[in-house]
Amino acid sequence: MSDDPLLTSVQFVKGVGPVRAELLARLDLRTVTDLLFNLPRDYLDLTQVSEVDDLREGELQTVRGRVVDMDGKTLRDGRTICAVLLDCGRDYARGVWFNSTWVLKKFQHNQLLMFSGKPKRNARRWEFSHPRVQVLDDDDSEAHGGVLPRYGLTEGLRMHEMRRVMRQAVEEFSEFVPDPLPESFRHELKLPRVNEALRMVHLPTSIEQAERGRHRLVFDDLLEFQLGLALRRRVFHKQSTAPKLPTTAKIDARIRRLLPFELTAGQNKSIREICADIDSGLAMHRLLQADVGAGKTVVAIYAMLVAIAAGWQAVLMAPTELLASQHWQTVERLLSQSRVQRVLLTGQLSTAERQRALNGIRTGDVQLIVGTQAVIQKDVSFAKLGLVVIDEQHKFGVVQRAHFSSGGSSPHTLVMTATPIPRSLCLTQFGDLDLSVIDELPPGRQKITTSKVTSEPLRAKAWNFVRDKLRSGRQAYVVCPRVGDDDQSRDIELVAPALVADTIPASPSMATAEQVYRQLQSGELRGFTLGLVHGRMDRDERNATMEAFRRGEIQLLVATTVVEVGVDVPNATLMVILHAESYGLSQLHQLRGRIGRGQFSGYCFLFSDSETPEATARLQALESTSSGFEIAEADFRLRGPGDVLGLRQHGDLPLRVADLLRDQAVLPDARAAAFDLVQSGAVDSPEFAPLKVLVIERFGKLFDIVGSG
Ligand code: ADP
Ligand code: MG
Repeated sequence: MSDDPLLTSVQFVKGVGPVRAELLARLDLRTVTDLLFNLPRDYLDLTQVSEVDDLREGELQTVRGRVVDMDGKTLRDGRTICAVLLDCGRDYARGVWFNSTWVLKKFQHNQLLMFSGKPKRNARRWEFSHPRVQVLDDDDSEAHGGVLPRYGLTEGLRMHEMRRVMRQAVEEFSEFVPDPLPESFRHELKLPRVNEALRMVHLPTSIEQAERGRHRLVFDDLLEFQLGLALRRRVFHKQSTAPKLPTTAKIDARIRRLLPFELTAGQNKSIREICADIDSGLAMHRLLQADVGAGKTVVAIYAMLVAIAAGWQAVLMAPTELLASQHWQTVERLLSQSRVQRVLLTGQLSTAERQRALNGIRTGDVQLIVGTQAVIQKDVSFAKLGLVVIDEQHKFGVVQRAHFSSGGSSPHTLVMTATPIPRSLCLTQFGDLDLSVIDELPPGRQKITTSKVTSEPLRAKAWNFVRDKLRSGRQAYVVCPRVGDDDQSRDIELVAPALVADTIPASPSMATAEQVYRQLQSGELRGFTLGLVHGRMDRDERNATMEAFRRGEIQLLVATTVVEVGVDVPNATLMVILHAESYGLSQLHQLRGRIGRGQFSGYCFLFSDSETPEATARLQALESTSSGFEIAEADFRLRGPGDVLGLRQHGDLPLRVADLLRDQAVLPDARAAAFDLVQSGAVDSPEFAPLKVLVIERFGKLFDIVGSG
């Protein structure tokens, strides 16, 4: 046993013992500290439950009872209505939902539920229309009154047992938890002491109190994380000198002459921010965020050319071979008249080619390098690396960011995300970077009209529309989630990693690209010229089909998400996405970014049979906005941070109690406080030593800030 009571094994908490300790270990609860910081996932506020007799029309109220009847029917106007009847003891209450048949699948007979909402008296019965529903555990039925915390459980561990263990842990140990924040600081921010906060969350007397307690614990968690980021930034700036890469008027003019278009205001602003950074003598660490198609690549190339003009090398690194070769094509196009020495470095080079490239990089003859992770292998050494651009799937982020070094000085780093990411994720995953945003598209982009297509008549109408447009000379994509019959997965090798994580596994009931291709050819689109591309075709065949589509010889391309990247056919203005509910929002947004690139407006049809509120809300978000930034926020609200980032494990976001979605509002305050502490130097004062120790303990290794002053 440890001397520190907080490290006591859960087994020694009164009432636990070896058997329960094992169950708790399954929930990753091993020490008393783990228990104390295992916050309830929510609360049951039984202080607010009304008896049915006492309900008042039109006021927000809650009832509790068991499901005794459920039914659904279709009304004359075509709407469906579902009803769930609760036996609340002295009387019954009914919940009703329109066009929501999922309700009948979600709830079960005899289940204990709470309805919250504003009830109405209807045919002598109290009725809640679309109430908020909480599903109670059977254990909860014994409870009378009070505010009950509800914890995550595991098989064999019941809610009332868990509550007893938690109560015990709090009563016995919370007083030992030291407060890392100086009292004056706490007062200023009106935060309760940590051990008070722990009582408030686990043994609350009201919901407000529980929330106040949670706020303190979440604030600490986020403050410590942000302090880690702020210290990391300080290390960036202290530790290394970086080359000064000036942009003179002459250099600027020379670069702009290479571009076939005027830069947008957003691009110019980002370029100014980057140029100021790389000319400052301190290493740049900047994130460039932009909507799909906003033109990040040319901003990156501009910066690389500035570095090269100053006599340094520049690297552009992409997460996949496909994206790397796409960037390479852009570079080749823009630099066709330029003498800049450049190579594409991917895993596909022959040994001799690779050797030649590496030699050039080592001697400095090669000035500009585009590549995949192949550019950070050990055998790659740079003569004089000045700038690294990482075109990144947001999956990487603060933790796994690549490290480059070249002699004594660090190169400047520019990170670009593939799609906009929600603000709160940005402040955590990329919170150590400065931010540049391009929030406008180049001029001349066409409007894209997006529509959900959820019934047979609407599908017929959509195909009609597609046929009309094809006849008038436009081209179309049909996107399917699956490739072929023997294949249950998606086109993995061609899609960037974060986008794979972004999708929900394809179910075998979904039509495959091959089936869709055959069906359309003999059905809806008979007489039109169709093509098929997917990731399991060989490269030459796929390229040939793509090329034919680009030349207009193929009118409609049936494809898997291969089209997401790399295709730019201005005449293609239509897109039909099948099983749209199975994609992430950002991915759908990226897909539809393929159309509306020429002089004609784009039309995107989202085919879906799914009626769940989640699917409906997601597709509606796409219908109602074309801003990638808004879509990112909506995706985040609907799916949570793990899914948006493509993180499957909670541990990938190193937070202890904060939930980025639920606790978003706390983040800006915690961040401001953390950056203030570092900027003012207060973090180095003895008063804040306990906090700093804690931060280094938690994040020192992860953020590379061990021993930072
Ligand atoms: P993303 O930000 O999604 O990476 P890209 O860099 O791929 O966007 O640019 C999308 C397309 O827009 C490219 O075809 C690019 O040539 C074009 N483009 C970029 N900037 C401009 C501009 N200022 N005016 C016109 N076209 C532009
Ligand atoms: Mg791009």
